[in-house]
Amino acid sequence: MGHFVKDLSLSDPERKRSLGELKTWVANGQNYFLSETKRGVEIADEIRLQTLVLLEYVQHGLTETDIQIIKVKEELQYLENGLQGRIRNLEMKTKELDEKLSIVCEEMRNKRVEDRHSKYFGGSTVREEDNEIRIVLIGRTGHGKSATGNSLLGCNHFLSKPCGSSVTESCNIGESVREGKNIVIVDTPGLFDTKTTNETVTKEIARCIAMTSPGLHAMVLVESVSRFTPEEKATVKHYVDNFGEGVLRYMIVLFTRKEDLSIANQSIDQYVQTVPEYLKTILGKCGNRYLAFNNHAVGQSQSDQVDSFFKMVESMGEKNGGSCYTNEMYKEAERALQRRMRKDKEEKEKQLEEEKEAYRKKVDDKYEKKIEKEKETVRELEKALKSKNIESDIVKINLQKQLEEANQKMKSVFENKEKEIREQIKKTEDKFKPIITENALRRNQRNHIENEDSFCQIL
Ligand code: GDP
Ligand code: MG
Repeated sequence: MGHFVKDLSLSDPERKRSLGELKTWVANGQNYFLSETKRGVEIADEIRLQTLVLLEYVQHGLTETDIQIIKVKEELQYLENGLQGRIRNLEMKTKELDEKLSIVCEEMRNKRVEDRHSKYFGGSTVREEDNEIRIVLIGRTGHGKSATGNSLLGCNHFLSKPCGSSVTESCNIGESVREGKNIVIVDTPGLFDTKTTNETVTKEIARCIAMTSPGLHAMVLVESVSRFTPEEKATVKHYVDNFGEGVLRYMIVLFTRKEDLSIANQSIDQYVQTVPEYLKTILGKCGNRYLAFNNHAVGQSQSDQVDSFFKMVESMGEKNGGSCYTNEMYKEAERALQRRMRKDKEEKEKQLEEEKEAYRKKVDDKYEKKIEKEKETVRELEKALKSKNIESDIVKINLQKQLEEANQKMKSVFENKEKEIREQIKKTEDKFKPIITENALRRNQRNHIENEDSFCQIL
């Protein structure tokens, strides 16, 4: 009651008085009401009134709270819906990012393989660290591309024939080693001769690119000194269209039939002054890099002309910042090649494991009976030693000695077996090592491409 009176909005003196009366009431009990009936009734009325006020207040408060709870519930529901939407969005975004990430990872993996192959693709060039010079021979049929390829390789690799029609039907590849460097020559057919279909051109360009991937060091336009064909200009234009303008920085014009010039007592420099305008334009575009070859030359004059060709390639390379020519198509081709090389490597590694396993099994089988026999001897000797019927110490010592020898023998049989397995595995690994190097895998792919009907799908 005291607390209740305190909560009533009474004035200070009124509250004090009421509290004082309450105290008296607590002290005197009912007697107080009986003696002071009037005051007691007043207080009781006041209490009833204030209780009603309080009840109303509580009821109002409860209604308010209910409304607020509903409101909070609604807001929570709204927040939950919003959150669910955001979670869905996040999940979708995460999925998208995951997909992007896996693409980037794949690209990085490819790039790592490309980089491992010591190539750095930047803009239109590949920084060279590898030990290879890749050359493409272009030009019209009959001007001596195949013969030039043979001169450069130092052997009769390409078919070169004195006939009007194109002997080389598709791109061919030839390789040799010069001063420790691998020389790769791609001999092309007269690609832009009038009868060649677009389909053939696309197919052969793709093949040519794949064979010289990840980029070429020299594109050699082979032109005969005694045969002038204005179509040569169109040929160069076609190649530039397919390979990109940048390829001109890697172009050399090589004139065959040099001996005809000697007969006419003319130097190659004098000769180029006399060539038709279209050739002069081409020469101008490729930085006036030209030289003459007699593909029938032998001995010193042959090696001299080949030397001067490779010197020209080297100085052109230096001028180009030690890089070879590449473009988007080359990058595509390189990626496709790397994929094929990886697959090829995996297959070969699998084959290696299978061969190793087969050898292991073979050696196991070979030693199985021997080992079993030795084990049996050991078992029998152990059994004999455990037997209670050993007559004397001498017999026992003898048996122990025999057991020791049998164990030794068994150990040496095991060792022989392990040694044989190790040797066979090493032999197998040595056999596989050279064919799973990057160079060997690439060479393998190049040969595939040479014999494949189409490599267009890479472009
Ligand atoms: P391709 O169609 O451009 O590949 O030309 P080939 O290499 O098949 O050569 C066509 C003909 O020209 C062949 O008979 C070659 O022997 C000949 N030839 C190529 N280069 C020379 C050269 O420098 N001097 C001479 N005399 N003949 C050459
Ligand atoms: Mg040819």
